[in-house]
Amino acid sequence: MHLAWATGDSWFDRTFTVVDDGTEVASFDNQPTLDTLRDLDRQYGDPTDRLDLWQAGLLCTECENELNGRFGADSEGNLLCWDCAMDHQGTTEGGVRVNTDPTKSVISESHLHTKSLCDHVVNVVTGCKHGCEFCYVPTTPAIDGRDQMLAEQADVEDPQSDWGSYLLYRDDLPERLGNLLEKRDPSERKQTKRGRGVVMLSSGTDCYQDRRAAQITRGVVAELVSHNIPVRILTRSPAVVRDIDLFQTASDRVTVGSSIPSFETPLVRAMEPNAPSPMARWEALDRLRKAGVPVYISMSPTYPTMDEGDFHELLSYFRALGEIVVFHEPINPRGKNFQQCLAAAKQAGYDDVAAELKRMQADHDYWIDYALDQLTTVQQVAKRFDGLRVHSWPDDELLRSTSGKLQSALKAMQQAVSPESFIGEGTAVGQQSPPLNEIVQCPDMH
Ligand code: SF4
Repeated sequence: MHLAWATGDSWFDRTFTVVDDGTEVASFDNQPTLDTLRDLDRQYGDPTDRLDLWQAGLLCTECENELNGRFGADSEGNLLCWDCAMDHQGTTEGGVRVNTDPTKSVISESHLHTKSLCDHVVNVVTGCKHGCEFCYVPTTPAIDGRDQMLAEQADVEDPQSDWGSYLLYRDDLPERLGNLLEKRDPSERKQTKRGRGVVMLSSGTDCYQDRRAAQITRGVVAELVSHNIPVRILTRSPAVVRDIDLFQTASDRVTVGSSIPSFETPLVRAMEPNAPSPMARWEALDRLRKAGVPVYISMSPTYPTMDEGDFHELLSYFRALGEIVVFHEPINPRGKNFQQCLAAAKQAGYDDVAAELKRMQADHDYWIDYALDQLTTVQQVAKRFDGLRVHSWPDDELLRSTSGKLQSALKAMQQAVSPESFIGEGTAVGQQSPPLNEIVQCPDMH
């Protein structure tokens, strides 16, 4: 599929046509918006092919220069050249300040291979509307140290406390990623045993949180898939189902997961104020797996009041999604955001959760006991569901606080490869970590 234009009386008086396989599928007297073009791309293009917007005769809506390099868009999706995008004042939509992100990087190496998730990450936007109370992203380089840029682009005063109220899109990411992948020798790509060369979207935002982010995500995934690169998507947004056609053509090189820590909607809403409900996430995964797309769950972070019955209910829903992998991590009492979680639980009327969180923060040994107990309980409950595999994420502090066999078992868990095979036959299906249930009772525990 490609974009063509015919000039009228002047260069600026042009007709645009979108042509698919020699057939005109749309025409415009005025330049179409980015949204319209990407919609057409979705509707008519080969799922793994991207309508290249660079050097396609498109003009900046503000200065009318041709878009021959980086570009952005305003809130209506009107295309802007890079200079105008950077000068743009941005807008506020539903209380969220939106604009364009000047980030130069396209794809970053990631330490998330330590969780057996990926070796690289791509973040399609900076910021996240979901505004989860426990979110660690504002403390990472994706946000931390970028105060000046955030202030200039979105009037951000404090990136941490304003988290959830700013969003900077990276509209030209698919084009720039495509360019980079064409130039880069595939053998130079980092590939660790646990990360398996996987690219994850996104560790620092939700890549399907709204339509504009989803449009960028589709372009990025199409590029990665067409270069035969395995992709892991993690999203709380049911909108991910819009790209089922793309995932289906990826021959099992894309896996899609969602974070579902609990089905207790009011508690989840308190902790993740603007994210879709946990059941909506589950239903989206159900649609994906029925369409043949590999899926997984991130059961993280689980809350201290959750017991065996809660985990049984959760895992039974997860098993209904097929023979899937569930990543599990108990909540960790660290950082400024832990205090926010505590306050959010209290405000939502979850005094028991708030009290447990407070106690965990004050009493290190109490937290260690809680974390070990949750990891063990989840593993034991998972045994009731044949075909369900749990990949536990024990925290570093747990390892430092234990010794002997228990510490070795936790270390083995950390170093295990997740038992997924979505990146094709012949992939290491990970040495499984040992069960924790017997070891956790041993006397050399702390
Ligand atoms: S969805 Fe993820 S990135 Fe967004 S606020 Fe929640 S934890 Fe942070």
